[in-house]
Order: sequence, then structure tokens, then C-alpha cells
Amino acid sequence: MISKVLIANRGEIALRIILACKEMGLKTVAVHSEADRDALHVKYADEDVCIGPAASRQSYLSISSIIAAAEITGADAIHPGYGFLAENSHFAEIANECGLTFIGPTPEAIRLMGDKAKAREMAKKSGVPILPGSEGPVKTHSEALEVSRAIGFPVILKAAAGGGGRGMRICAAEGDLQGAFDTARSEADRAFGSADVYVEKYLEHPRHIEIQIFGDTQGRIISLGERECTIQRRHQKLIEESPSPAITQDIRDQMGQAAVQLCEAVKYVNAGTIEFLFQDGAFYFMEMNTRIQVEHPVTEEVTSLDLVKEQIRVASGLPLTMPNGHFRLRGHAMEFRINAEDPVTFAPNPGRIREFHVPGGPGVRVDTAAYRDYIIPPHYDSMIAKLIVKGKDREETMARGRRALDLFIIEGVKTSIPLHRAILDDPRFIRGDISTRFMEDFEW
Ligand code: ADP
Repeated sequence: MISKVLIANRGEIALRIILACKEMGLKTVAVHSEADRDALHVKYADEDVCIGPAASRQSYLSISSIIAAAEITGADAIHPGYGFLAENSHFAEIANECGLTFIGPTPEAIRLMGDKAKAREMAKKSGVPILPGSEGPVKTHSEALEVSRAIGFPVILKAAAGGGGRGMRICAAEGDLQGAFDTARSEADRAFGSADVYVEKYLEHPRHIEIQIFGDTQGRIISLGERECTIQRRHQKLIEESPSPAITQDIRDQMGQAAVQLCEAVKYVNAGTIEFLFQDGAFYFMEMNTRIQVEHPVTEEVTSLDLVKEQIRVASGLPLTMPNGHFRLRGHAMEFRINAEDPVTFAPNPGRIREFHVPGGPGVRVDTAAYRDYIIPPHYDSMIAKLIVKGKDREETMARGRRALDLFIIEGVKTSIPLHRAILDDPRFIRGDISTRFMEDFEW
């Protein structure tokens, strides 16, 4: 059994994991960089270890420092959160070799699904619909051209090792391909250490719908319904909700079935997300994320489950607590990512938070590690809080969202709050008539 968990992360997710551990009576160890000495996750954990300077590469991405911290403190498990080392199969492997329980899937599953081209092949093999595209990476421009002509423009080039909305290039026509191929490859090489790119048909007005799945070591894999993550900027999610206003129970069942099929094929254990694009009534596999997601609270709110506690249980070898049979989503939930950034240009805006007051009241949850006088360091992600609202239906949820955003006070840094507030007044958003290109022509 797990008794002490080291959290290899920072910010709100580190805090979220500490909360789950506290409820389960487990001890916690925080690791932190020199820039995060005053961070809340350090204050809340039972023990803390400084693992290096501010730069992530030398701290939150340093496998040897994190493993050493686990050994010094006698931790017996590691929770990686999301981002940083969460999808690094080598890290999971080393943790296991050192006798530490990695709270996540197996290194093999992380490796297989982390290669987006291989994951696509795997999806196809297990009968999950994929978009037309290349079989594996394309090595030359002429190969990319041949595939693109066969499937028809527009196409999208994607880095096989990509993530976080990076390493993608859209090509509207043949003339764009050469330039896009070269930049996508060099960008991918620089960002992810692999220049491999593959070609996929580009959908013009899709919705991003993902399925939360969970597997245990007894071999049970279940789907916990969908999250709609269609509102994005630069391919990065801004607002997530569950259920999706575009999904019928029939489609939900089909997507859930497809996601479970794929996870069964790779014998998946722990929390995972299968991302799909959905357009004109059809869905297509896009990628799998082998970790807890930023937007997991949305699913927690409509299923009344604690996904982080479930992760820890499963990692301890215990079966999932969810009942057998069909999962019904109850009510409606939305999450707004509050970033410290200019809401118009999206330029990050780190600095001191001079005033900080979180809204409360019925149906409101705020996951954050920020506080008054906290100095947001410039070295990490700009997300400083997640506002999650819940209601009996979508209308009540949006009303609570407007009310909570109006009462959320953050002064000293610019945030995305005004942008979220404007989106909640947009007639297309209110109707649920959206695509991933929503922000391209959003005026406010
Ligand atoms: P990442 O792993 O970097 O997040 P994804 O493959 O999940 O990349 O894609 C991120 C976003 O890019 C999607 O949510 C969608 O908005 C857009 N996208 C990806 N593939 C396509 C496609 N074939 N057609 C249209 N949009 C796409």
C-alpha cells in the first residue's frame, strides 16, 4: 500500500493531489524549484525538498533530482500531475525500477500512445475511426505531397511527438506544403527531439470532444463520458464543459465504446483521455493523453467522483470504485482557465498579485495555488486558477459562470477573466453553436 506520495509537479495540480492524499490519510512530499519557495504546494505538503533552480529543465524536469528527493524522504509513490514529466515513459520506468509506485499508466502505454503516429495506427487497428492521412510519419516532401493529394487539401502536418498545441501546420493548398513541411519538421525537432511529422485531413469546423477513461489492474476499463474542449486559442483549451451540447446519448455511447476498445487493446491502466474531433455527426480519433488532464474537474462535477483519489487507489492495485454498467452524467459543468495573460494578445503577464478574492456560493469550485501577494514566476505556465461551475443544466451553469467571473477579483496582473465573461455573452456560445475556430472571429 502507498503511504507517502511525492508530487512531481507544482501549481494548482500539486495542490489538488495533496488534497486527495490528505483525504486518504497519506503523507505528502512537495518538490520545488528555487523560484517556488513560497508556493502553496510547499506550504501544504508534509515535507518539501528543493530540487534545483527556476529553470524547469534543472528542477521539475530533472528525473535524478526528483528520484533523489523521493529516496531522501522515504516516499513510496510518485504522482506526476500533468505537463512536466507526466508523459515521460523513461521517468515512469525509472520510478518503477527504484521501487516507487508511479501513479499513472505503465511506461509501455505512455511510450506507445505518446507517439501520435503510432497511436493513430493503434486506433485504426482496434476499429476506432481516424481521419484519412499518412500511415506513420512522412519522411520526404514528395511523400507528404502524395498523401495530401490522395486525401485532398486542406491537410494538417503534425509532430508525432507533439503536444500542447505545438508542432502543427495547416496547409490549405499544394503551394503551402513545402514550407510547412520544413518548418513543422524543424520545429518538432527543436521542441520534442524528433522531427517526425505525419499528415492528416484538416477539418474546417470540428468540435474537440474527449472521453475520460479509467482502467484498473483487474482489467476493467470504463468510460466516464465526454468533455467538450472546443473553445481554444492557438490550439490550446480555454473553456471545457460536460456534457457537450452537441452529443446525444447514442453518440456518447459510441465514443465511449471506441475509447474503451482502444484502451483494451493497449491494456491501459489508470486515468486517460481519448481526444476526438467531431464534425457533421461523425467522430475521429485524434490522440490519447496518458495522464490526469487539466480539465478533469469538469468530469468530477458531473460524475461525483474524485479522479485523483481513484488514480491513487488504482496505483495501489485496488479496483475502481465506480459501479458496473452505464455511466450517467448528472447536471452540467464548465471550467474556465484563468491565465495571467493579456486577454487580447494572449501574451503572458507574470508578476505580483495585489488583490485576490475567489468567488463562492452554490455550484462554484476554484482550483488554484495563487493568493494575495503571490508573485507569479515567469518560468512556468501562465494558468493561475481554474474556475469550475456546476448547475442543473447548461443555462444555470452559464448563469453561475457569469456571476462567479464577475465576483472573481484578481488585481496586479492581467487575466483572461474578461475574455471568459465576454464569451459567456456570445449568442453562438450560448446556443452551443461552436467549432475549434470560434476564437478566430470572436470580437469583443
Ligand atoms: P496537441 O497534442 O498538441 O494538443 P492535438 O492533436 O490534440 O495536439 O490537437 C490540438 C488541436 O488542434 C485540436 O483540438 C484541434 O483544434 C486542432 N486539430 C488537430 N488536428 C486537427 C485536424 N485534423 N483538423 C482540424 N483541427 C485539428
